[in-house]
Amino acid sequence: MSDSLFSDASKRLEIAMKYVSVSEDAIERLKYPKASLTVSIPVRMDDGSLRIFQGYRVRYDNTRGPAKGGVRYHPNVTLDEVQSLAFWMTFKCAVLNLPFGGGKGGITLNPKELSKLELERLSRAYIDAIADFIGPDVDILAPDVYTNSMIMGWMMDQYCIIRRRIDLAVVTGKPLSIGGSIGRNEATATGAFFAIQSLMPKFEQHPSQSTVAVQGFGKVGAALAQLLSQAGYKVVAVSDSQGAIYSKKGLDIPSIRQYKTAAKGIKAVYCKGSVCNIVEHEVLTNQELLALDVDILIPAALENQITEANVNDIKAKYIFEVANGPTTSTADKILESKGIYVFPDILVNAGGVTVSYFEWLQNRSGHYWKLEEVNQRLKEKMVEETEKIWSITQKLDVSMRTAAYIHALNRLGESLDAGGTRDYYINS
Ligand code: NAD
Repeated sequence: MSDSLFSDASKRLEIAMKYVSVSEDAIERLKYPKASLTVSIPVRMDDGSLRIFQGYRVRYDNTRGPAKGGVRYHPNVTLDEVQSLAFWMTFKCAVLNLPFGGGKGGITLNPKELSKLELERLSRAYIDAIADFIGPDVDILAPDVYTNSMIMGWMMDQYCIIRRRIDLAVVTGKPLSIGGSIGRNEATATGAFFAIQSLMPKFEQHPSQSTVAVQGFGKVGAALAQLLSQAGYKVVAVSDSQGAIYSKKGLDIPSIRQYKTAAKGIKAVYCKGSVCNIVEHEVLTNQELLALDVDILIPAALENQITEANVNDIKAKYIFEVANGPTTSTADKILESKGIYVFPDILVNAGGVTVSYFEWLQNRSGHYWKLEEVNQRLKEKMVEETEKIWSITQKLDVSMRTAAYIHALNRLGESLDAGGTRDYYINS
């Protein structure tokens, strides 16, 4: 247990606890997930055989509102990982002051090995297995690694079939034609961009003088790389699971995105081609990308990428965590001692859940907003909370991560205490 991702994640809570006047009861309750569900998911494969997949849904906390969090399809998904992701969601929703708690789900598989129809059957079977555990007022799903709007559409449809009513708000990140919000696909990247644009001027780091490396050229990493290069930052390296490409003079991000889209396999769900196939660039490993001498490093792939083993190779001045949990707590301390600024996941990647909240609101009101309205509201929230966290760092002389946890913990503690003591009985 001591080496688990979750125990490492909860160390951040221990540091922040020292700076808040939150009740001991509230802290104790935040150390454990409220409920965890493990399910076996039977799927009929195209060849007629039956495969059983392992799936999870964790509701970490729902004090401030229904749990909210994505669903991941990846070979490394475990209950420990899903629990950690649900923990981060709890704090992220509190950082952005959204009326949600934290949840997360996942299925252990390599989704690229499944056909589109197998994936649809799997996604529907997952909802069959967890239907009683989720709902628009209970726990709301969204996309994460290797899940997308098409998969969210199947999940929402299956939930409606089970409930025999239309319940659009049970899933966010859906296709626009069935209740998705405009701007949701790019929201995590757009939110991260607003955070970067708010923070970099404080260090007098101007776009035209900034080089950037992005690890993970997926839904979020690719969109953010494009926003940054449009704003004048020089994106010199990007990567995917197969490796990285580097160009000292800067990469042409729109054409790399176009290549990835055009290289989508016959399964039409995942991209078969890698950025590494674009031959005119220097090819690096993901480890070499992390060690590049750039101003801004953006991990946008998976957790545990910057660890004790490679932290001393990091040369970037600023790290914006777009992935959840890319830096271990040990690496975090070393980065801080080296004067490298880490802007934490629970703030930087919160644009996705913020627009998911907007989608949930739009589904419930039946009134849909324009892209300008979505982005304007997203910008207001990201800038407001970024500034609040920044002022905590200045006041208490703590890192941005500790400040973000302090900020969230104050809100969570207040809500937990406001709920009263219904489970408190005196022995007499
Ligand atoms: P995605 O599946 O669209 O993309 C993941 C990318 O990471 C792909 O390019 C993949 O090739 C790459 N990758 C996988 N393994 C890798 C490895 N070992 N090294 C380097 N690259 C690797 O996923 P996404 O939605 O873009 O999510 C990326 C990260 O952002 C995740 O940590 C996710 O939890 C986080 N996040 C996503 C959202 C969202 O709205 N999608 C919101 C908040 C946080």
